[in-house]
Amino acid sequence: MTAELICVGTELLLGDIVNTNAAYLARECAKLGLSVYHQSVVGDNKRRLSSAIRTARKRSDIVFLCGGLGPTQDDLTKETAAKVLKRELVEDPGTKKHIQKFMEEYLRWHPQEKLTENNWKQAQIPQGALVLENENGTAPGLILEEEGTTLILLPGPPGEMIPLFEKKVAPYLRRKQPEVICSATVKICGMGESQAETKIRDLIEKQTNPTIATYAKTGEVHIRITAKAEKEEEAQRMLQPMIRELEKRFGSWVYAREEQTTLEAAVVELMKERGMTLTTVESCTGGALSARIIDVPGASQVLKQGFITYSNKAKRNLVNVKKSTLKEYGAVSEKCAKEMAKGGCLVTGADAAVSVTGFAGPEGGVEAPVGTVFIGCCLKGRTTVKEYHFAGNRSSVREQAVANALVLLRACLMEM
Ligand code: ATP
Ligand code: MG
Repeated sequence: MTAELICVGTELLLGDIVNTNAAYLARECAKLGLSVYHQSVVGDNKRRLSSAIRTARKRSDIVFLCGGLGPTQDDLTKETAAKVLKRELVEDPGTKKHIQKFMEEYLRWHPQEKLTENNWKQAQIPQGALVLENENGTAPGLILEEEGTTLILLPGPPGEMIPLFEKKVAPYLRRKQPEVICSATVKICGMGESQAETKIRDLIEKQTNPTIATYAKTGEVHIRITAKAEKEEEAQRMLQPMIRELEKRFGSWVYAREEQTTLEAAVVELMKERGMTLTTVESCTGGALSARIIDVPGASQVLKQGFITYSNKAKRNLVNVKKSTLKEYGAVSEKCAKEMAKGGCLVTGADAAVSVTGFAGPEGGVEAPVGTVFIGCCLKGRTTVKEYHFAGNRSSVREQAVANALVLLRACLMEM
């Protein structure tokens, strides 16, 4: 089956917001085995939107329309889709009730606001539409089946669109597909994409079903295996030999076998299993490393404290970096990273500490060029420091530093 995406909104056309919904939907369609051959963006304009819907219906089995389902004047996706399909808009009692309940709850916490008349516009649905109740908002998702083509209307805010897709749309599409698609993601870290691909080139070259593809991420590579079969159990079974083969080839580089596990979650899990605690001592990453760790539910069992030692004074006062080290070698040095990590453990009593110090740019690069970063890891009294030279702008250097700090911590834990 083919699917096509139409995202609606003038702010998307002007580049005021990034079209993350299209990226998400395209990825999810691929996972479901739908072929996406076209994506487009249309402003809040009835004539151009009608024309886009008509074109899409001629060439695709499933057409997603994303955005413009809200209560305001410029939200016209539903009205336009109904017109193209020559359907009346009728009130849906279930949606009306949902809006009432949702707004009552909302107004309880936002007493200064009011329920306005235009909110009820969202209870109007094209006749015969399948309604997907939106737990996170008032505009429901809508499915309109007509002459072999299905229009799927979804609200624009990602916080509403993504849960609706996961809970309602994906199961609907799975039922529609004659074949079941199952995929698994083997995630590896600490190895670049080209090196990883070289290790599995033969598997990629002779792939048929399951298929195999690599995706480069900062500090990691994800290998997605996808199998097609008539039944889910069969597709799942087909994935297993390939997963085992990848595990054999990559060994301890593999940190996860499922899509939802992040590198930080794998590291937190590893530390929990070993009953270990962690502290972070960050300079150029400014807390981004601890933020990624705290993103993981249950991180409190592991991370007790983090330091942002941005200035030399902070490095000395908070984690005992020696004055002489800073004077002789500078803050961006192997020696400083080592003392930061050691000091982190000593001051907090944590089992492990990770330190990051570097030049993120654009200015600076006093003792070494911009992009130079030292990452230290002190584990049970033993400290490892690695030197990195990252390319890219300030935010990219910082992002790579954080990812590689997690990679180094994991590598040290695995060596224990
Ligand atoms: P609302 O009820 O909030 O008006 P809506 O379904 O009418 O929802 P839009 O008005 O098109 O959706 O967009 C609302 C907000 O959702 C946008 O301001 C933007 O923040 C986000 N959004 C919309 N479309 C996209 C998209 N394609 N990618 C990422 N974010 C989007
Ligand atoms: Mg809107």
